Amino acid sequence: MIDFKNLKIAFADKSNPDLNRAYFLFKGMSNPFFSKLLTSLSKFALKLHLPIKPIIKATVYKQFCGGETIEQSQVTIDKLWESKIGTILDFSAEGKESVNDFNRALAQTLASIEKAAISDSIPFSVFKPTGLCKFSLLQKINNNTPLSAEQEIEKQEYEARVNSICQLAHDKNVAVFIDAEESWIQDAIDSIAEKMMVKYNTKKALIYNTIQLYRNDRIAYLNSLLERSENKFFVGIKLVRGAYHEQEIERAKINNYPCPVHLKKSDTDKDYNHALNICINNIDRIAICAGTHNEDSTQLLANLLDEKGIKKNDDRIYFSQLLGMSDHISYNLSVANYNVSKYVPYGPVKDVMPYLIRRAEENTSIAGQMGRELSNIIAEKQRRKKA
Ligand SMILES: Cc1cc2nc3c(=O)[nH]c(=O)nc-3n(C[C@H](O)[C@H](O)[C@H](O)COP(=O)(O)OP(=O)(O)OC[C@H]3O[C@@H](n4cnc5c(N)ncnc54)[C@H](O)[C@@H]3O)c2cc1C
Repeated sequence: MIDFKNLKIAFADKSNPDLNRAYFLFKGMSNPFFSKLLTSLSKFALKLHLPIKPIIKATVYKQFCGGETIEQSQVTIDKLWESKIGTILDFSAEGKESVNDFNRALAQTLASIEKAAISDSIPFSVFKPTGLCKFSLLQKINNNTPLSAEQEIEKQEYEARVNSICQLAHDKNVAVFIDAEESWIQDAIDSIAEKMMVKYNTKKALIYNTIQLYRNDRIAYLNSLLERSENKFFVGIKLVRGAYHEQEIERAKINNYPCPVHLKKSDTDKDYNHALNICINNIDRIAICAGTHNEDSTQLLANLLDEKGIKKNDDRIYFSQLLGMSDHISYNLSVANYNVSKYVPYGPVKDVMPYLIRRAEENTSIAGQMGRELSNIIAEKQRRKKA
């Protein structure tokens, strides 16, 4: 059994001021009213160019982000690597809609691959498809809506951006994750992800698609992907529960179509764990990253490795958490010799706000693991007082 309760290990590289900052943040986020008020105020203040950037930077940004640039994130990369925890540099500018923004995200992702190629401490790169083209275009591609001549060109440019990322990842032997997004653009993402796997995963899994197990059709998707890949390409998969649960339910309700996500947390958990089993049973042709803060799923994957006689640090299996969250999982896994990495989001403060707001919302939701995050911090503060 992995000892997730060993808080001395979990917080070994956190100073007392670090712990205090985390305490006040998670305490604040645990109050839905306070959390909603603060996120709305921050959005408003940033829109009006009020000088709140230093406050955000010293608090929530410091907890969840590496820095504004790759270079500024080096301190975090090095600190994590002292505990043998890898970094996944995640350029987190979201909700952008101009060609300049798409090319900037492309340049950042290419730079993160170049950086990963020369750094043991960076096992993967990652990108979000909506960082590389308009959301509305992805939606049209998703729905097979006829495209105008201009949109056809935009589509080709988007596909060229994705291909240049995957080509460089292949040439530099760096694995790259394609993040999953809202279900109403996800078919379009799955389709290009599979194209890239066919093209570049011929010798091993370098391109990873993401499966959100809160969706009620993803076990079927995983099985069909495995069928299609047989004798053709290696499958790379990041398994997550999914970050857009409320939006999925709301949109299905408003537009009166069958809800694509589970409504019971236990169903999501069941599918997540089922997916882990399927992947491990097919480990000869699949590589996975378990992107989760859930202790049961983490323990299950560790048990499956043990049962199947797979090495703890087999390079086809990674555990991953987000920076600033669930250090009790990351650090204790690493000490037990499993492959662990953390997403380290970086980018200008105002650009990473949507990401930070998602973290605040996730940590406020009752079904999440907020209570545990806060109680771990309190327990560690008490342990230090006594020591
Ligand atoms: C490394 C990494 C990469 C990630 N990449 C992506 C990505 O590409 N795309 C993406 O969408 N998310 C991504 N995430 C975010 C991830 O989806 C959330 O962190 C995750 O949903 C939180 O779940 P958990 O596995 O940590 O466990 P838990 O805290 O046990 O589960 C919380 C999750 O359960 C689900 N849930 C909550 N209530 C219900 C309910 N009533 N019915 C059904 N399901 C419910 C939701 O998905 C919720 O987020 C990533 C996370 C990590 C750590």
